[in-house]
Amino acid sequence: MRKMLLPDHDFETFDLITPDFLKSIGKKYVLCDIDNTVVAYDEPLPDKKVADWVKSLTDAGMSLIFISNNDRQRVETFCESLDVPYIYKSGKPSRKTVKRALSFLGGTYGECCVIGDQLLTDVLTARLSGVTSIWVRTIKKVETPFFRFKNAIEKPFINYYFKHKKTEKQ
Ligand SMILES: [Mg+2]
Repeated sequence: MRKMLLPDHDFETFDLITPDFLKSIGKKYVLCDIDNTVVAYDEPLPDKKVADWVKSLTDAGMSLIFISNNDRQRVETFCESLDVPYIYKSGKPSRKTVKRALSFLGGTYGECCVIGDQLLTDVLTARLSGVTSIWVRTIKKVETPFFRFKNAIEKPFINYYFKHKKTEKQ
């Protein structure tokens, strides 16, 4: 059960996930969260960093799709200038989310990874579908009771992940 909430890889920020890294782990189909993964949850538009990252992936021949549980308006507004496909109200962590995204991209599970900041949605989505999970740090903490509760659940898993990771390196 613990493994279901532990990512395969972690990065401080999404833009450190380079095409070279993705190639090195055999990934070509990238399913990426929006809120608090590539921009703060209250930031409606992508900034240059996001646009540059998207371009670097597509230039390298990778297929990117944004998968967000947020509503249509948020996701459409965000993706409008990026020319990247998206799924709003994506239903993460359901397995159907990955299935839908991959059938849209025409990709395979083996070459797919899910990027996101939440263990209980993004990492679990990847795990339930048996695809690679890349976890990034939450950009801006959401201070609502629901998210505080979620963060409290995630904390021991994050601690375990880093402890285990360190042990592996020794
Ligand atoms: Mg998120």
